[in-house]
Amino acid sequence: MSYEPGASHEVATGDALEARLKAYEGEPAAVARAGKDAVNAPMIRHWCEAMGDTNPAYSGPDAMAPPTMLQAWTMGGLSGHSGRTHAYDELLGLLDEAGCTSVVATDCEQEYLRPLRPGDEITFDSVIESVSERKTTKLGTGYFVTTRTDIHVGTDLAGTHRFRILKYTPGRRAEQQQPDRRQRPPRPRPVVNRDNAGFWEGVRRRSLLIQRCTDCGTLRHPWLPGCNACGGLEWDTVEASGEGTVYSYVVMHHPPFPAFDPPYAVVLVELAEGVRMISNVVGVPYDKVRIGMPVRLEFQVYDDESVLPVFRAREEAA
Ligand code: ZN
Repeated sequence: MSYEPGASHEVATGDALEARLKAYEGEPAAVARAGKDAVNAPMIRHWCEAMGDTNPAYSGPDAMAPPTMLQAWTMGGLSGHSGRTHAYDELLGLLDEAGCTSVVATDCEQEYLRPLRPGDEITFDSVIESVSERKTTKLGTGYFVTTRTDIHVGTDLAGTHRFRILKYTPGRRAEQQQPDRRQRPPRPRPVVNRDNAGFWEGVRRRSLLIQRCTDCGTLRHPWLPGCNACGGLEWDTVEASGEGTVYSYVVMHHPPFPAFDPPYAVVLVELAEGVRMISNVVGVPYDKVRIGMPVRLEFQVYDDESVLPVFRAREEAA
């Protein structure tokens, strides 16, 4: 087929679109590309560490690469590969024009025919294997596009990697899943467990309790079963004065949790007693929070009646 740009300026729909999409089946997506690096021990080691795979077959003088690394040897990295074909880009462009502007990777299948070992230099070819009929999924309506990549060492076929995406028009269902600020879900509740129940009981009584080791006197927060200074398991509590300073902070922009309104500052407060805790600063805009800012404890009651210790910027306090 021809890849002449501008062959048609009309946006194809329905059967005409499907016919145009089907025409890409069998077209190349990559031809005779070479792996950026020969199969090598450092990449194998990094992969095994990331995957937690300690199989002895992947290390030592007779090491082979984990078969599931197959695609890794074909990847172009940030700079990509040169010599790409236009067919795949054209196909995706056609789908974009038809309104299928969203994409999700759905699955991949691999076949292994020959082990890859350090020193092997791979080449690969990709083909657009199939374009599905129009399908409606929970995400929306669109087309599954499957590419098949054959990985060779010399003339040996080492393996095959099939990769499938769905290019689709987002459905109403997806729109409805956007957070609706009028029906805001409640804030996440604190996780109260056997080790920290005393802390939350203190908060309920509007008292910020710090754990103190009764063996060595070291204060600790958050609450833990044992002392990290001496290992002692016995403890009592002291009530925090409520004075502190901002030790550090971050401003949250993303991800947008539905119960919160970004941007907002999350602070690590150093209490006058010396321990630090994560909280929020109130009474000051998020972009005015600064390291070293003096703050004072207060307890804030939220919509769902949960109570949390927060810190008010002291210049702003009454
Ligand atoms: Zn101790």
